[in-house]
Amino acid sequence: MHISVIGAGYVGLVTGACFAETGNDVICMDIDKEKIEKLKQAIIPIYEPHLEELVKNNLKEGRLSFTNDIKKATEHGLIIFICVNTPQDEDGSADLKYVMHVASDVGKAIEKYRIVVIKSTVPVGTCGKVKEVITEELKKRKLEIPFDVASNPEFLKEGVAVDDCMKPERVIIGVDEGRVEEILRELYAPFIRTGAPFLVMDIKSSEMTKYTANAMLATRISFMNQIAHICEKLGADVMMVMRGIGSDSRIGPKFLFPGVGFGGSCFPKDIRALIKTSQDCGYNPSILEQVMEVNRLQRVSFAEKIKNFYNGDIKGKKFAIWGLAFKPNTDDMREAPAIHVVNALTKDGALCYLFDPKAMEVALSIFKGNANVHFGKNQYEVLEGVDGLVLITEWLSFREPDYERMKSLMKTRVIFDGRNQYNPRTLSNLGFHYICIGRPDV
Ligand code: NAD
Repeated sequence: MHISVIGAGYVGLVTGACFAETGNDVICMDIDKEKIEKLKQAIIPIYEPHLEELVKNNLKEGRLSFTNDIKKATEHGLIIFICVNTPQDEDGSADLKYVMHVASDVGKAIEKYRIVVIKSTVPVGTCGKVKEVITEELKKRKLEIPFDVASNPEFLKEGVAVDDCMKPERVIIGVDEGRVEEILRELYAPFIRTGAPFLVMDIKSSEMTKYTANAMLATRISFMNQIAHICEKLGADVMMVMRGIGSDSRIGPKFLFPGVGFGGSCFPKDIRALIKTSQDCGYNPSILEQVMEVNRLQRVSFAEKIKNFYNGDIKGKKFAIWGLAFKPNTDDMREAPAIHVVNALTKDGALCYLFDPKAMEVALSIFKGNANVHFGKNQYEVLEGVDGLVLITEWLSFREPDYERMKSLMKTRVIFDGRNQYNPRTLSNLGFHYICIGRPDV
């Protein structure tokens, strides 16, 4: 099948490469000239496991190509996937200007029947608006070219995006035309051979499903963070509580880990967008508002916990920061909790020595100009002479560190663990002061 993907970011690039891998002829289009130049040489602008080999292979096999030219993209693909960013607007809603820009470009360029599929996360009603914009452009050109618009929300997780895309747990499409369903069913057939459901629904329900999934997952995290606070007050261990409830099949073990809060390019903006959509239609989504507020406070209280250990005075104190990406296996720092924690510590005069296995380049641009921030080459270098270690992202390489080496490097042997990575008893026996979330300090 001939496929065009508009927007070659985390979602578009992975989607395009995976469709090419199953034999389709794919063009990825992006307005970013530098990105496209790099991609033509198989230089991947983001860190995502297995993506580089997938792009390299398919470029070599001639099934994947890159362009800045929207005309070329609309000529090529029977299906045009819109995968552009939908960032948060000032009022919390999803900013649809990039999606609408693409819709208008498509309307200006198409010459024959096309299926426009929206993969970007968009509020209910957006597919309808895209249809209107394309119709308007065709009217201006005095043409009556048939086209369809469908919704196909993306559920991939950064860090395991290629795997998620090749073996999705489900594919959801929102359509109002039988022929579109058939074509998308054929396209996705190789991905769901193991029996994952292919769910066909109306367009609005499909758009709503994506927001609901993210809101549910974020709710679980904020819920457990509240439970962690209660456990802390009572001297209970939230990790035991988590195991206790996670083994109930009605609850399940995933997304129950308490910590320094969720971040990333999706949860915060998508929950805010859902809140705004809900308010706009006259309903007050009080649970969702609390999910966001608990998450905000979680970062604040973690930074406060660190300060309190030094009786509120951290001026001149040195901290090693382990982990900056919003989660392991990505270099994505959008809305990462590390940004808040580092800013809160340095604002009060502390010096932070940062290390992340993949996000150092991104971090450099984020903390540019903050004289109290320094960057290390590895996880041990940043420990030299510090008054404390702050763990924010649970990268595998932090799981079983060389504790003796750490002890020899750190001035004060205290670990603030924002992800409850370690066993408090083990750390205490090793001679560390260990402060974590929702468990008694040792
Ligand atoms: P991204 O910022 O990584 O990539 C978006 C790309 O679109 C950029 O390369 C940008 O240059 C390009 N772009 C913007 N306007 C364009 C235009 N007019 N024409 C062509 N290209 C254009 O974003 P992302 O993380 O891939 O997310 C894309 C969408 O998918 C968002 O709506 C997001 O909410 C959703 N989503 C993201 C994830 C994720 O984990 N990142 C998961 C599921 C869904």
